[in-house]
This record gives sequence, C-alpha cells and structure tokens, in this order.
Amino acid sequence: MPLRPSRRLVLAAAAFGALAACTQRAPSDAAGVAQDADARHVNVYTTRHYGSDQAVYRRFTEETGIEVRVLEIGGAELFDRLQTEGDQTAADLIVTVDGGALWRLAEAGMLQPLSTPALQAAAPARFRDPDNRWWAFAKRARVIVYNKESVDPVILRSMDDLAQARFRGQVCARSSANTYNLSMLAARIERAGADNARDWARGVVENFARQPQGADTEQIRAVAAGQCQVAISNHYYLLRLQNSDDPADREVASKVGVFIPDQDGAGAHVNISGAGVSAYSPRVAQATRLLEFLLSPESQSLFANLTNEFPVRPDVELTPGLAALGRFHEEQIPFEALGRRQAEAARIYEEVGWR
Ligand code: FE
Repeated sequence: MPLRPSRRLVLAAAAFGALAACTQRAPSDAAGVAQDADARHVNVYTTRHYGSDQAVYRRFTEETGIEVRVLEIGGAELFDRLQTEGDQTAADLIVTVDGGALWRLAEAGMLQPLSTPALQAAAPARFRDPDNRWWAFAKRARVIVYNKESVDPVILRSMDDLAQARFRGQVCARSSANTYNLSMLAARIERAGADNARDWARGVVENFARQPQGADTEQIRAVAAGQCQVAISNHYYLLRLQNSDDPADREVASKVGVFIPDQDGAGAHVNISGAGVSAYSPRVAQATRLLEFLLSPESQSLFANLTNEFPVRPDVELTPGLAALGRFHEEQIPFEALGRRQAEAARIYEEVGWR
C-alpha cells in the first residue's frame, strides 16, 4: 500500500503558470483591501493537520516561488478566530474539512466569491459553492466497519441497519458533538426529514454497546477487539490502519471489514475538504493560485496517496486502497445543508441521549 506519493506524482511538472495567468489581478478586492500583487508568500489558516498538506504546499512553493505560511488551528477555533480578527485577519486562504464549516464561513462573509477557468474546470458543480466562495478538493465517505468473524456482510445494506433490533448492544459510536456525526445526521434530516433522523438516532442509541467515546479509529479498534460488532467511521481511518508501519495496526485492520452503505438507496454519506479565499485577503492572486493548486490533479493524487481521501476530480487515478472500495453511489444533498441543519442535528442527538 502506498504511504508516499508515487515518484510519478513527485516528478510530474504541471503548467500552473498558465493556470495562474487566468486569475484577474485587481488593484483591490471586493472588500476594498489593497492588494500586494508582488507578494512572495501566502498565509493559510487550516484545520487540517496532515503531512500530505505540507507536501502539497512544498510542491506549490517549488512551482511558484510563493512561500506558504501555515497556521494550524482547531476546527472549533477557526470560526471564532476569524470573527475576532475581522478585516485585520492575516488569512489569505482558509482550508477546512466539512461542508457545514465551509457554509458557515461563507454565510458569515468570511470568504469572497471568485472563479477562474482552472477552478471551474477542476470542480464538478456539486463540489463548489453555487456562489463560488468555497471549492472542495477532496472527499470522504462515512462507512460501516464490521467484525469479520461475527458479522456476515450480506446482512448489511444501509446505515439504517445500525438502528435495527438485530444489532442490539452491538454498535460502537463516537460522540454526537463530533462534526462527522453532526453532518451525517444533518444530511439525513435534509433528505429524509427530522422524524426519520430522530427515529434512526434513537434506534442506534438503543443498540449502543457502550457510551460514545473516542474518535473514529477507536471505533475500529473496538470492533476488531469484539467489544462491538459494527461501528461508523470515515473510510480513510481504516485505510490508515491497513497502511500503518505498526504491525498491531495492520492486525486490527485485518479483523474488520468495510461496507459502503445505501448503495441501492440514498447513497453513502460523503463530506468534503475544501477551501476559500478570505474576504480580507491582501494577496488574492497568490491565494487563488494556491487554491487552483489544491484542485490540481497532482495535489489530489497527493491527498489520495497520503490521507487516503477520494479525489474530487473524476480524472485523478485512485490508489489501490481507494480503488478497492470502488466507485460508489453518493448521497446527493447540497453540502450547504450540512451547515444549515447542524443545530437541528445537535438537538435531535440531545433529545435521544446520544452524548
Ligand atoms: Fe478525520
């Protein structure tokens, strides 16, 4: 399993000069911020903490001579920090995971609409803000992991199964305060309504093997250890264990199977990694160039290889680990619904006692 970007990717030289030339260079941006078109650096605020992103930023600097200065920040802190800094923020490009978080940043006026031919060509319509304030560059599926010894996957069809009585006392889950779970339920509210979402969440709570604890990887470990038979996880956590240098991790991964649910129904719940240019950026040209780079085939291959995220571009080759999961049917709701429905999702979790 590839842990590193392939040589082919590292050596591939892309024509980003041509892409960047498409960017309009205005003397000031929409917010009236004076522009420094000659700046040789760009500031990134990001909630992602992955080595892959550093590799992508290094490649960008090699290609453009523009230094990427990164502030890593928690998902909960990002919004508050941008709000506090207002038009004095140092952020040029804002990078985060979760369609709900991107929607919230856009709604608060923290991102500026911009569009270039390169961005338009790279992102399918569903994977960008209709008003061009954010653009997705990678995606992740929420999947069912199951204990191979005790669960026959032929009985699995849908996320709905985890609420069925046959899994009583057999489901592990992480806290409902987690964004992945909030967005998953927000999506369900959007496509199936609040009553459906409440019934499902209540059914899963009734099936808990233990009180919610730990992150996605802990759910996989608990399934492998037989503490529960099924759990919900983002797909890449299992691939990470499969690809781990630690034999104990690979042993865990070997004991669990992955099932992509709802293939004959609503489609699997998918969320995105994405970015947008700060409404107050004095370096819009540089930030746009970096955004284009994040959406390039080279960057999306790096993300696929290093964080096991699915590319957004249909023309990027899947890694063997991703290809093993296959191309699958995705839940078709607008990503902004993940933000719009988040408070309602939190209320439902509270109501049914999913802590
Ligand atoms: Fe994650």
